[in-house]
Amino acid sequence: MLLEHPERLDLAELDRSSLEEVLEARGHERFRARQLFRWMYRRGVSDIDAMTDLPRPLRSALARDFILSTPSLEHRDTSTDGTEKFLLGLADSRHIESVFIPDTPSMTFCVSTQVGCAMACGFCLTGKMGLVRHLTAGEIVGQVRVLAEETGLRDQRFNIVLMGMGEPLHNYDETMKALRILTDEHGMAVSPRRITLSTVGLLPALERLGREPIMPNLAISLHAPTDAQRGQLVPLNQKYGIGEILETCKRLPLKRRSRITFEYVLLEGINDAPEDARRLAALMKGVKSKINLIPLNAAPGIPFNRPPDEVVDRFAQILADSHLTVSVRKSRGRDIRAACGQLIVDGPRRSTGQKLASVLVLP
Ligand code: SAH
Repeated sequence: MLLEHPERLDLAELDRSSLEEVLEARGHERFRARQLFRWMYRRGVSDIDAMTDLPRPLRSALARDFILSTPSLEHRDTSTDGTEKFLLGLADSRHIESVFIPDTPSMTFCVSTQVGCAMACGFCLTGKMGLVRHLTAGEIVGQVRVLAEETGLRDQRFNIVLMGMGEPLHNYDETMKALRILTDEHGMAVSPRRITLSTVGLLPALERLGREPIMPNLAISLHAPTDAQRGQLVPLNQKYGIGEILETCKRLPLKRRSRITFEYVLLEGINDAPEDARRLAALMKGVKSKINLIPLNAAPGIPFNRPPDEVVDRFAQILADSHLTVSVRKSRGRDIRAACGQLIVDGPRRSTGQKLASVLVLP
């Protein structure tokens, strides 16, 4: 839509303070932004003409000057466990996937921040696509708007995890703008406590995040206890190693009682030995942490296997014996390829060798 109407601003791309400024510059009252936010985000109305508490002349002026773009729902798959995967189309005909995970025990929307991903982690299908492009804030928030509408949860509490396609901190500015829009008290008013940002550990961006007024919960994709092992799985580890990541985590201003989640994908024979668990426990000393083990979701083209349940249990037990809080992520929606690391659209784009280059161009 942006491409079709270059002269019209997209309301979906404006946080409330920017909208206030734009409205004021066009001779409208600033408080109209609050009204617009209520219609768009609380009531799920995208037709400006239906916003009936705005004076008619204002509605016509807004309809002339603005559009409100919304990702289009192209396909919806329901898993036997209730998880639903949404294929959404964007204005430039690219596609992304978003996932609704019910009852975990809360309702959770898992949203994407990029089309594809530049990080090229060895066990992740999205990583195989390479980075196609960053999503805009409107496209990130648009996924939540569509999912809230489609699942009938607009008026209820839900959690949002930035764990779909992409590396949120590689798309820093748009991700932060999306967080401002999602948490706006006049809009959806999602509490930052209900939002989790998962990152592979882009250090400068992680430090910057620590200084933001809106601080979501954090999850760090650690996946291995030594740099030698992690470097094999996560190419970015060659730039930012485990020691530096953990030092940064220790310095992050966390609210009292809040802890950072460390995600650890378990790969058979690679990082699932008792020795790995003991090393991981040692690393966590002095870090306010909880560990989330994710047994690999296998897929064609991914050269790793999921360890047997006994191995997962043994690994978890060693961590628990070291007084760590540990959970094993139940895999949801595997039958519809909606589970972690299984989101992929438009097919793989390029070979892994090229990807680190784009990782190095950081915000
Ligand atoms: N780029 C962000 C968000 C990625 S998805 C990050 O790296 O954190 C969320 C989690 O799913 C990450 O921890 C990611 O490493 C994990 N994941 C990726 N592929 C997976 C797979 N095949 N099986 C299980 N978990 C996977």
